[in-house]
Amino acid sequence: MTQQFSKNPPPVEIGSSQWTRPFWDAARQQKLVAPRCVACGTFRMPPTPFCPRCRSQEIDWVTLSGRGLVYSYTVVVKAILPGMEDCIPYMPAVIELPDASGVRLISNIVDADPAHIRIGQTVQVVWHTLPDGEVVPRFKCCAAQEDMT
Ligand code: ZN
Repeated sequence: MTQQFSKNPPPVEIGSSQWTRPFWDAARQQKLVAPRCVACGTFRMPPTPFCPRCRSQEIDWVTLSGRGLVYSYTVVVKAILPGMEDCIPYMPAVIELPDASGVRLISNIVDADPAHIRIGQTVQVVWHTLPDGEVVPRFKCCAAQEDMT
């Protein structure tokens, strides 16, 4: 039986605004960042003009370790559109970022055997450049976790 490791999903177009652009600019430098309210310390992702807790507009962009925990995921095994066949299987995932309290990132788990992914598993950010030059975070299993069978 052939083992199918998860691939990068079909390319997407990144839309950005003055509030989200710093995230994508940092991603181009392969830095995972999250906006934190200067006034009260609450992380707010996605970035918004006002802190949902104290309504301050001041943001401090904090560089994170890139370590994440699998909060949820699914495995896409069917090409629902023409041209997707080369991307199958891929694994959309919600990744919790423990060093940014309350922040969960919608991303993908790549280069992983779907049969070995578990909720709560530790993953590490890796970077993928899209055809238009934007860079997006994806997540890969950590080496210690990959050794567990
Ligand atoms: Zn605040």
